[in-house]
Amino acid sequence: GLSTGFLGLGAMGYPMAAHLARQGQASGGAAYVWNRTAEKAERHARQYGSLAASLAEAAQVDVLFTCLPTSAEVSELIGRLRPHLRPGTFWVDCTSGHPEAAQRQRAELAELGVSFLDAPVSGGTGGAEAGTLTVMLGGPEEEVEAVRPALAFGGKVVRVGETGAGFAVKAVNNVLLAANLWAAGEGLSVLARRGVNLGAALEVINASSGRSNASENLIGQRVLTREFPLTFALGLLAKDADIALDVALSAKASVPVLAQVAALYRAAAHSVGAEHDHSAALQLLERMNAQEIT
Ligand code: NDP
Repeated sequence: GLSTGFLGLGAMGYPMAAHLARQGQASGGAAYVWNRTAEKAERHARQYGSLAASLAEAAQVDVLFTCLPTSAEVSELIGRLRPHLRPGTFWVDCTSGHPEAAQRQRAELAELGVSFLDAPVSGGTGGAEAGTLTVMLGGPEEEVEAVRPALAFGGKVVRVGETGAGFAVKAVNNVLLAANLWAAGEGLSVLARRGVNLGAALEVINASSGRSNASENLIGQRVLTREFPLTFALGLLAKDADIALDVALSAKASVPVLAQVAALYRAAAHSVGAEHDHSAALQLLERMNAQEIT
């Protein structure tokens, strides 16, 4: 089987790497893990039978995965791994990164004979645990096909174009998530101020054409309950909206609504706190309206 390395055992990486460990055990391929805070890698090894490794050891694999906050941390790791990488390795970056960074990183790694593919994922921590993530890949078709068997955490795997296209699609998906969440929050704020029961309102909207993942899942489970459980940080969603806006600007697209959404989530991250769950963006809206969405 293919040997794999996974760098970055965060909310997504930890459960994603568990599927690589399981697949490695079934196929006889070693699954190495590395994390900046090493204790998490040791816990992963005890829990799933992966191999906690140094960065240099983790670099000696067929397919090296990263899942870090932004492209900046990926570039930092490319720099640290430079002396250890072997020609023929695939570097599959599952970070929700920046398309322009992907192009630079692919060129930098190509000098070492390493193939960089952008491969961001959607489906959240639940999809990562279930191994049903959607993976959107950018890069040459034959390289995408070469890594496809290694994507043990994937449900739907789609090549969306050349290098950077995966990151562009991911950024657009997430700015749509942000827009839908904010818009549903505005709608429910209006109804709350008018004295309508929001449980009843959501029941109707979710059986009607105004529904979205935000109305069907996020608002009922995270906002009305006041729990705002942390699975995906607000700062990361604000980062994704900014990437979508960068992509729009470099494509010279006119996107007034998406630009507004990026500004609102940047404000929410400053105002509510970037480390809170993304659903807590609606706490800024609640302040704007002096009205809890509950
Ligand atoms: P987390 O904050 O939970 O994890 C971040 C990981 O990056 C940790 O392993 C952390 O290590 C590591 N890290 C941070 N800075 C550095 C650094 N300078 N050098 C090395 N390692 C570093 O993030 P998520 O797992 O939630 O998100 C990861 C990526 O996946 C992001 O791009 C996000 O947008 C995307 N994503 C997130 C989803 C979600 O639902 N959470 C869904 C889909 C995509 P340490 O443990 O030491 O802090």
